[in-house]
Amino acid sequence: MKILITGGAGYIGSIVTEMCLAAGDDVTVYDNLSTGHRRAVPADARFVEGDVSDQERLAGVFRETGTEAVIHMAGFIEAGESMRDPGKYFRNNTCRPVSLLEAMVEAGVGEILFSSTAAVYGNPVTELLDEDHPREPTNAYGESKLLFERLLDWYDRVHGIRHAALRYFNAAGATGERGEDHRPETHLIPLILQTALGRRGRIDIFGTDYPTPDGTCIRDYIHIADLGQAHLLALRSLERGSIHYNLGNGRGYSVREVIDSVRRVTGRDFPVVESGRRAGDPGVLVASSERISAELGWQPQHPSLDEIVASAWEWHQSHPDGYQE
Ligand code: UDP
Repeated sequence: MKILITGGAGYIGSIVTEMCLAAGDDVTVYDNLSTGHRRAVPADARFVEGDVSDQERLAGVFRETGTEAVIHMAGFIEAGESMRDPGKYFRNNTCRPVSLLEAMVEAGVGEILFSSTAAVYGNPVTELLDEDHPREPTNAYGESKLLFERLLDWYDRVHGIRHAALRYFNAAGATGERGEDHRPETHLIPLILQTALGRRGRIDIFGTDYPTPDGTCIRDYIHIADLGQAHLLALRSLERGSIHYNLGNGRGYSVREVIDSVRRVTGRDFPVVESGRRAGDPGVLVASSERISAELGWQPQHPSLDEIVASAWEWHQSHPDGYQE
């Protein structure tokens, strides 16, 4: 397929680009490099530096490349930051990409995969979250993504653009060549690994008074290669109609358990400090990914947390300065 990937210079985007290329797709990465890395973009992908708010540019690129489907991964991703600066999230994750949808209408591109998030659900009312669980985000990040999901419903209803909203739980791990390099880094696993490498003095646990067995937040960590595989499957199923899918392993780990996993995998010890809660963090987020398993046959190949951490550790050791940009 001919695909345009917004945010294809980012962590998940560059790995999905790598996997689409390996599957034989023709890929154009469209990224404004505000947080992405030019070096993360695979050499076989076409690269266009541009912004999702630039409708004219996008429509032109769609026509030149004969784009058949968009994977929209560009966006800001820090739940904590969204509680200090919600406008940044509503502007960039909800409002500006309306121009992307308008460019798709203009150029006749009829399919889009959207990087959504478990943060659309808020605090769970059932043990596992399935796609029908109430959507009551506890942070502005989750709300900004939920609002864009709703825009997608309208573009389907009015313009017939089909979408798959993929609600990611906690993407982690690396492939041989590509891994996680956020500036600043805010995610748990890379932060702990940087601490294990001695590049940070300590890791803070944000909150030890959650109603969980050890008092720390529980998340469902999913290997980036399994996440990427779901994109390949979802992309090829869009002709069936619009859909929402959760992507997780169905098993949660507390912050302390993740720290223990890093100690086991790296064989290193490091300082851990118990700190206060981060605003907007739900206590527990664990997926039911039954729907995508049943409908598309998706099965995670790397469900073990230690395996996920080991792949990330390998990448951090071989790329201690990330992409060095
Ligand atoms: N977390 C933490 N210390 C850190 C960074 C994160 O305790 O330095 C916690 C955070 O509060 C959350 C979990 O680790 O409960 C995962 O956070 P991350 O930012 O990686 O992903 P999120 O779940 O927010 O998407």
